[in-house]
Amino acid sequence: MSKLKIEIKELNSKNLKQPPQVGEKLDFGKNFTNRMFKMKWTPSAGWHAAEICAYGNFSLSPAALVLHYGQEIFEGVKAYRWADDSIVLFRPQDNIARMNVSAKRMCLPQLPEEDVLSALIELIKLEKDWIPKSEGAALYIRPTMIGIDPYIGLKSAEEVLFYIILTPVEAYYTKPIAIMVEDKYVRAVRGGTGMAKTGGNYAASIYPITLAKEKGYDDILWLDGVEQKYVEEVGSMNIFFVYKDKLVTSILNNSILPGITRDSVLKLARYWGLETVEKKLDIHQIVEDLKAGQITEIFGSGTAVIISPVGLLATTEEEFVIGEGKDKIGALTQKFYNNLTGIQYGKTKDAFGWIVKAI
Ligand SMILES: *Cc1c(COP(=O)(O)O)cnc(C)c1O
Repeated sequence: MSKLKIEIKELNSKNLKQPPQVGEKLDFGKNFTNRMFKMKWTPSAGWHAAEICAYGNFSLSPAALVLHYGQEIFEGVKAYRWADDSIVLFRPQDNIARMNVSAKRMCLPQLPEEDVLSALIELIKLEKDWIPKSEGAALYIRPTMIGIDPYIGLKSAEEVLFYIILTPVEAYYTKPIAIMVEDKYVRAVRGGTGMAKTGGNYAASIYPITLAKEKGYDDILWLDGVEQKYVEEVGSMNIFFVYKDKLVTSILNNSILPGITRDSVLKLARYWGLETVEKKLDIHQIVEDLKAGQITEIFGSGTAVIISPVGLLATTEEEFVIGEGKDKIGALTQKFYNNLTGIQYGKTKDAFGWIVKAI
């Protein structure tokens, strides 16, 4: 396979932004680094025009396919700075592989996985000063692919743009969240795009999440789109239920996003000798188990939050405080958080080969 050639553009030093200082407040998702990676695809040329250039606006036709029919996919990865100033990525190959699964479903072209990883590492090396030094902070990486043909007829894109942008993020404060079981709206349906990381899934979720927030909840626990009976996931996280020393989560059914953090939690749990169960989770059974006090902890998993404790779960009828109180973090939840972040920051041994050193 030919290696992708990346042109590195000189930046105009007058316009350079300074990386955030230690302790400076970081506004997640609003402040981007000076550079981005981008490349184009057409059926005849394949991937080409790869470059690392100044972060800046694109010029797109108002008729660009993505703006009308939403042919878009994305990923979320993080780069971490270790105490010795080395820079690492957590399971980036899995993100790129998952992007290709999303690409297939959304009829977008396959990425050359090794080339994209090299491009990402190249970009991270140039932007290394943006990876925060403060404890718990990281550089959030957002690879994105869009179809940009100037055409308002429905078709699969034949002009495609792939790009990677970077934004520094602070330590996420793991305060327990309150979630609401959504029994009216659904996120994904059988045969739909639930397993793809595509903007449309989120577009459809904004209204129900807004309603849930108005009721005072932080997020939604989605049920399946067919029977509205089986637990799927939460917002941008997968969901886990702790039954004393057994860990239970929804089985991947093609409408749940197969989280890399989810997979890491399951692998860690098995490594520790915990029993893990992946199955169809009937919400009525969950409610019964909550009433019987059998569920001791609930938490979500995802790249942004790593592990997010759930302190309260609400159905239309009742609210359940989880574990020892809605502001308390359960012991196992805390152990997953500590171990995953421990591996990510180089403080805990990586027994799984998850860490990829960039610098
Ligand atoms: C990204 C995402 C997740 C979490 O996946 P990770 O790979 O763990 O970050 C879960 N659910 C949805 C809908 C997502 O988009």
